[in-house]
Amino acid sequence: MGSSRDPEYDVIIVGSGPAGISTAIHLTQLIPSIKNRVIVLEKETHPRKKICGGGVGAYTDYWLQRLGIKMSIKSTTIQRTRIVLDHDGHVDYCFDVGELRTVIREEFDEALLRTARDLGIKVIENQPVTSFFYRGEAAVVQTPKRNFTTRILVGADGVQSIIRRKLYKNPGQRSPRNTCSTLRFMTRADSLYFSDQREQEAIIDFSCTFRHRIRGYAWSFPVSIGGQACLNTGVGGFSTSQKDGPLLRKILVEFLAARGISLNEGKVEGWPIRWFHPDSIFSADRVLLVGDAAGVDPLWGEGIAFSLGYGHVAANAIVHAFVSEDFSFTTYKDRLVGHEIGQELMNRLQWADKLYRSHNTADVKDILLSLILPRRNG
Ligand SMILES: Cc1cc2nc3c(=O)[nH]c(=O)nc-3n(C[C@H](O)[C@H](O)[C@H](O)COP(=O)(O)OP(=O)(O)OC[C@H]3O[C@@H](n4cnc5c(N)ncnc54)[C@H](O)[C@@H]3O)c2cc1C
Repeated sequence: MGSSRDPEYDVIIVGSGPAGISTAIHLTQLIPSIKNRVIVLEKETHPRKKICGGGVGAYTDYWLQRLGIKMSIKSTTIQRTRIVLDHDGHVDYCFDVGELRTVIREEFDEALLRTARDLGIKVIENQPVTSFFYRGEAAVVQTPKRNFTTRILVGADGVQSIIRRKLYKNPGQRSPRNTCSTLRFMTRADSLYFSDQREQEAIIDFSCTFRHRIRGYAWSFPVSIGGQACLNTGVGGFSTSQKDGPLLRKILVEFLAARGISLNEGKVEGWPIRWFHPDSIFSADRVLLVGDAAGVDPLWGEGIAFSLGYGHVAANAIVHAFVSEDFSFTTYKDRLVGHEIGQELMNRLQWADKLYRSHNTADVKDILLSLILPRRNG
């Protein structure tokens, strides 16, 4: 029997995006009896705004399957993906990238949350976590309304994670520069020059890498919003920071202009992505990071699938902590790097290094064909 000084919860998860919800579901599948001792705290109320390209494919489906859940949400199927490589856009390649489709993130994340609730997982929305501290054998999680105590705390609170920031508490500990600035621009598609057959085409344009020497690409993904054909476009640069905002904006303007779109047809919104870097801190005593808080795909910025995958690693690490009664999580990084998502993140880090260091079309094409997109089409 627990004493009144025992923590209220075994696990508190901060953030109810794909990483947080996946962690909660995996955990309750591994230890069904833990359900009443796990809670997810979310600062917003779903459907909450999420700036994203919304591109999902086979890897996301794989991790949804591993969660063992079925979600029926609307998506837009992409018929082909065109890769633009050189300066003037003349060198185009079409790749069969498999089952690429687009979702509206707000709907996707709300569906995930509903699924978790249907499984009996408690999520409290409108509950922003402001900080945490240690007291005895517990972490005390602070919110403006009240404090919560827990044996284990999971930081699934996204790229600007408060939990992650607290882990870099010693003056000697410096975070690697592993955030990527992105701009997204959503616009209606009916005023555009696209012909019917091109409407379902995704574009990934590396010509900005060549022209402006940034490690990144611009994208254009078709998406249907309430039956209205729209384009989700944007640009991301893995070597950029906030100060490069004007450069990214310039690239976005050029990318849109090449497609007959002007900035006054939509709204430019910026949000970073944190990419996986092995020198990052991923855990501390009683604390784990998952998803964007830990770092996702350094190649494409694909984060949904990896965030779902992180949930599997974290849930297993938590089970191990309870069984061994060792809550230090000193082996979490090894566990992550040895896990299939860690292996994939390490692979993508290598590919990203090769790809974004190349500034000639032939090299980039070779890298894409040999390493990244083995199934070429057309
Ligand atoms: C412009 C852009 C385009 C992208 N395009 C794609 C794409 O096409 N495909 C893809 O797979 N990935 C894409 N990504 C990456 C993807 O969006 C992220 O990697 C993914 O959302 C990470 O999931 P997460 O659960 O870790 O974080 P999030 O989805 O950000 O969820 C974190 C949650 O924590 C909550 N939270 C934050 N702080 C607190 C707090 N203090 N207290 C309580 N709750 C808190 C937030 O409200 C949020 O609900 C894109 C990202 C950007 C920025």
